[in-house]
Amino acid sequence: EKWEKEIRRSAKPRRDGGISVLVTGAAGFVGAHCSLALRARGDGVLGLDNFNTYYDPALKRGRQRLLSDRGVVVLDADINDALLLEKLFELVPFTHVLHLAAQAGVRYAMEAPLTYVASNVAGLVTVFETAAKHADPQPAIVWASSSSVYGLNTETPFSEDHRTDQPASLYAATKKAGEAIAHSYNHIYGLSITGLRFFTVYGPWGRPDMAYFSFARSIVAGEPITLYADARRDFTYIDDVVKGCVGALDTAGRSTGNARSGKKTGPAPLRVYNLGNTSPVPVTRMVAILEKLLGKKANKRVVAMPSNGDVPFTHANVSHAAHDFGYRPTTSLDAGLRHFVDWFVDYYKLDAKIVKATGAVVDKKKPA
Ligand code: NAD
Repeated sequence: EKWEKEIRRSAKPRRDGGISVLVTGAAGFVGAHCSLALRARGDGVLGLDNFNTYYDPALKRGRQRLLSDRGVVVLDADINDALLLEKLFELVPFTHVLHLAAQAGVRYAMEAPLTYVASNVAGLVTVFETAAKHADPQPAIVWASSSSVYGLNTETPFSEDHRTDQPASLYAATKKAGEAIAHSYNHIYGLSITGLRFFTVYGPWGRPDMAYFSFARSIVAGEPITLYADARRDFTYIDDVVKGCVGALDTAGRSTGNARSGKKTGPAPLRVYNLGNTSPVPVTRMVAILEKLLGKKANKRVVAMPSNGDVPFTHANVSHAAHDFGYRPTTSLDAGLRHFVDWFVDYYKLDAKIVKATGAVVDKKKPA
C-alpha cells in the first residue's frame, strides 16, 4: 500500500497538461537523462529497471539517486514481469510509455545471445502486450530502436525508408525484430508506437562499455586502445537525444485501442525516426579530442575492422524528426566530449592535474 502511494505520487504530473510516463530502463544512460528532463518539465515519471550487471551497477544506482533526489521512483523490476506491468497499468493512467530497457551493445551479443532475445524481443512484447490489454486508456509508446538496423547498408546518409534487411549483429537483428513487432501491435491493437533510431549517444553518466568511455578510461590508465581504421560514427550528444525523445513523446498521438475489448477503434500512428547528429566523425578524431581534453596521449593500435558486429559508418538524415517535432542537434563532438570529460574526471575523482592544461575541469577547492 505504501508502494502504491509512492508509485502514484511519482507518476502524477505536477503541471496542468503534464504527461504521465512509465520509463523502462530508467536507471540506464538515456533513461535517466530523459526521466530528469521530463520531471524538470513537471511531467509525472515512474521508472523501472532491473539493474543488471552488464556494466558497473554503481553507475545505475548513482543515476537512481539523482532521480530519487527529484522525487522520481525507479522500481527494481524486469520488463518480463507481466504481472507487475499489468498492475502498474491498472494502478496508473499513464499517457505514455518511454520504453528504453534493452540489452545494449553489439559485441556482447556474441557472448550472451539469449539475453538480447529475452530483453529486446520477449521484454518488448511484454511491454506492448500489457499496454495493449491492461491499460485503459492505452498509452502511446515511444521506444528505442537503433541506427544499427541499417546494418551493412552503404547508402548514406541513412533515411528511415532505407533498407534494413542486413543487420550486422544479433543486437541489430533484435532491434529490427522490435520494429516488426511494433507494426503488428499497432495494426491489431491500435497502439500508437514511435520507434527512435539512436545514433551512438554519448555524454555524462554514459555507458562504460561504449568506445568514448572505455577509451577515456584506458587513456587515463595508460592502457593500450584498439581502434578500427576508417570507422566513422555520427556521435550524438545526450541532451540532443533527450530533446528528441521528449519531442517524440509530445507528438506521439493517441492510441485507438480498447483495453477491454482488445480491439482497435481506428488507425493509430506508427512511426520511426532517426535521432542522430548528421555529421559523422572518424573514431580517430574522437580519440584525438579525448587526448586533448585529458591532457594525455593514448597508446593507440589501429587495426582493420573485424566482423564482430560493428559497422564501418553511420550517418543520420534527421529531416523527418526535424519536420515532425523540430528535432535539431546542436552539440558538436568537441563540446559534448568536454561535458563528458568534466563529469568523468569528477565522478572518478581523478587527479585534476591530468586535465589542468586543458582547463577541462574546475578546481573545486577554489571559490567560484
Ligand atoms: P543502458 O544499458 O544504459 O540502459 C538500459 C537499461 O535497461 C539498463 O539500466 C538496464 O539495467 C535496463 N534493462 C535491461 N534489460 C532489462 C530488463 N529485462 N528489464 C528491466 N530493465 C532492463 O543503455 P542506453 O545507452 O541508455 O540505451 C537505452 C536504449 O537505447 C536501449 O534500448 C538501447 O538499445 C538503445 N540505444 C542506445 C544507443 C546508445 O548509443 N546509447 C544507440 C542505439 C540504441
